[in-house]
Amino acid sequence: MGKPIILTGIRSNGDLTLGNYLGAMLPLAKLQARHANAYKFNMFVPDLHSFTTPINHQDLYSNTIRNLKMFIAAGLNTEHQETYIYRQSFIPAHAELTWILDCFVYFGELNRMTQFKDKSENKNTVSVGLFNYPVLMAADILLYGAQYVPVGEDQRQHLELARDIAIRMNNLFKSDLFIVPEAWNEQLKFAGLNKGVRIRSFKNPNKKMSKSVIDPGTILLTDDPEEASKKIMAATTDSVGEINFDFATQPGISNIIQIIALLRDVPLNEVIAQWQGKHSYGDLKQEAAELVHKFLTTFQQKTSQIEDSYVDELLNRDEALMRQVANAKLLEVQQLVGLRRN
Ligand code: ATP
Ligand code: MG
Repeated sequence: MGKPIILTGIRSNGDLTLGNYLGAMLPLAKLQARHANAYKFNMFVPDLHSFTTPINHQDLYSNTIRNLKMFIAAGLNTEHQETYIYRQSFIPAHAELTWILDCFVYFGELNRMTQFKDKSENKNTVSVGLFNYPVLMAADILLYGAQYVPVGEDQRQHLELARDIAIRMNNLFKSDLFIVPEAWNEQLKFAGLNKGVRIRSFKNPNKKMSKSVIDPGTILLTDDPEEASKKIMAATTDSVGEINFDFATQPGISNIIQIIALLRDVPLNEVIAQWQGKHSYGDLKQEAAELVHKFLTTFQQKTSQIEDSYVDELLNRDEALMRQVANAKLLEVQQLVGLRRN
């Protein structure tokens, strides 16, 4: 048995947001720093996931490379021997395993996914890809036997589906066919979190910040730091007049407190204790605005220093290896379902 695997990815369907950074990129970089010797790390771009909703296809290829640069700028150590960086579409086993799994996943299960409901709401046409995407995500995880999948709270249901699929296939075919990824609470514990991270829009704090939704309350990682600070100073709050950390009654304020804690890399309780009961929303916003300004300035500088050729080199190195790993698991599945001789 090799070392256990931590895996994460962000689809490249648009500019990455502060939510992606705090919910997925930073957690992975932190886990990597903490567990460098004990785990392998798979950081991939699910490019096949990128057009389940319409995108500008001319930008997809370069967006994928840019997103990888941002992951590196977020602190992912690419020199770490057992960190693998790859694109989903360069490893055909992902798509093939998806088809096989599709035949063991029920329509009703996918129809219950809240993200599908949210993303298809009020749309005239909805792609089958959008409906089916959680199965591709399960294939992404199960092909490599990932134990931990650091994702934001919005992906919880999809992760749970991946577990269900793994357990079902193991029961049907072979008890150790797939490693079952850890349950959500174990994922949180492992990441040192009490609760999943769900960064809200600064304008609509009841909604999560999303890269595919046009919203003036979204902070993109490519935003001018000055503009980003202004978005925070203009954040929607509430009329309570006192600072409390409670997403149910003061989502705007709570969102800002959470962002401050994550950017300062201190426990949430420390920031809550600092602000609880105070009255100046402006001062609270000011602290977040300065932190975001400083973060974006450094982050953008780092991103601009990474060459395309460096990313290409990493991809060429790791994609060849990942194809072998994924093909070996796919072959096992093909044999079990009768597509290949045992
Ligand atoms: P889209 O609107 O296209 O779905 P997205 O911003 O939700 O974009 P994804 O590519 O779906 O991004 O997700 C990439 C990763 O970022 C996942 O781990 C997801 O949980 C995390 N993530 C996305 N939005 C947030 C958010 N607002 N807060 C915390 N994590 C988030
Ligand atoms: Mg999403």
